[in-house]
Amino acid sequence: MAGGWSKDGAVQDQIDASIKDAIEQAKSHLPEGESLTHCEECEKEIPEGRREAVPGVRLCVQCQELLDEEMNEASLFNRKGSKGSQLR
Ligand SMILES: [Zn+2]
Repeated sequence: MAGGWSKDGAVQDQIDASIKDAIEQAKSHLPEGESLTHCEECEKEIPEGRREAVPGVRLCVQCQELLDEEMNEASLFNRKGSKGSQLR
């Protein structure tokens, strides 16, 4: 475990690197600036805990979930699309 020379160590380094990349990517997509006190979509109050947990938050939990669902559906659709094009 401790030896960085082993094969396992190299694999772990690679995993660490890709996790870092993923975090950097995720960070670049996070909203910046001050959290909104009220949801941008429905103008409901955003709980303080959420504002602290998600810096720059602009949506309440409900609207964020709706948005996430839409994004999930979009990526599912894209996957189907690329699969279809592979099969011609
Ligand atoms: Zn909302």
